Amino acid sequence: MATDENRYQVVIIGSGPAGLTAALYTSRAMLSPLVIDGIEPGGQLMITTDVDNYPGFPEGILGPELMDKMRKQAERFGTKTLNDVVEELDLSKRPFKISMGNGDVYGDTLIIASGASANWLGLESEEKLKGRGVSACATCDGFFFQDKEVVVVGGGDSAMEEATFLTKFARRVTIIHRRDQLRASKIMQEKSVKNPKIDFMWDSVVDEILGVEKNEVTGVRVRNVKTGEIKDFPYDGVFVAIGHTPNTQVVKGKLEMDTNGYITTQSHSTKTSVPGVFACGDAQDSYYRQAVTAAGTGCMAAIDAEKFLEEEEAED
Ligand code: NAP
Repeated sequence: MATDENRYQVVIIGSGPAGLTAALYTSRAMLSPLVIDGIEPGGQLMITTDVDNYPGFPEGILGPELMDKMRKQAERFGTKTLNDVVEELDLSKRPFKISMGNGDVYGDTLIIASGASANWLGLESEEKLKGRGVSACATCDGFFFQDKEVVVVGGGDSAMEEATFLTKFARRVTIIHRRDQLRASKIMQEKSVKNPKIDFMWDSVVDEILGVEKNEVTGVRVRNVKTGEIKDFPYDGVFVAIGHTPNTQVVKGKLEMDTNGYITTQSHSTKTSVPGVFACGDAQDSYYRQAVTAAGTGCMAAIDAEKFLEEEEAED
């Protein structure tokens, strides 16, 4: 049951740039928000190294450091944070009920800023060798591959970024991409193409990660999608960088979303299909997906929630 202790004017689900910016704005509007951290406190920037494209940091800043600053800034104005994961949401009536492992809280408004998580290839060998040479985070695991040979799967900015970062440790990094053209931005492409430690395997997919019987990655089985040729190559590590899926399972069937699971918001706002529920950041943006755009939509969600509460108060 909602009480003075467990009821908040604004509950924010997620603590990446979107969630913490929403917290900063709503706390400065004296709405005493609660941020529920979620599975990855701090979001995807916690597993990023140098962030060179967040305005205000001319020398760049480390992802975890940026998130630490955002959290402290939100807390300075009275944001409360809870290190828990949402298990169930009741959006059928207000205040909205948010059930977590450690109990329930209630929100007069709700801001969904639950972000997105890395995709995997879906191979059984990949699952078995996760943490044993298979990773989706070069920042977290690159250090273990000093002077080793590794592959990065994918052709987007993430794959280029992971590969470039891995060259700090690995002797050789091979990017395996399923087409003969990269999706990555020109500047990121150039950086990897120019790097003498990086080479490319085009038109190729990883059919199997080898080494299950040894409990460590020993190589990859690669299939050329044009010729059909299958070949095994020795490698010490596999980094998967093939995009992301929004963390919106908890609102599935409760909020309108697109076919990929991104929450639909009304244009020029963060309003969802349920009045009083707002969505921001990667949970609703499948296109820009930048820290700065996430922060921007977090600010929008905060303003939308504040207006919603104000209008409601005016009606009463
Ligand atoms: P992405 O742009 O969606 O690229 C995913 C890549 O993985 C694509 O090349 C795709 O191939 C490949 N792929 C997808 N599923 C696959 C599968 N099952 N098997 C093999 N390959 C597969 O994702 P992202 O690289 O994570 O980037 C996401 C967003 O974040 C982008 O907007 C990007 O600009 C941004 N980002 C920016 C930076 C930066 O500026 N510093 C860094 C990282 C990410 P196809 O090309 O054939 O579809």
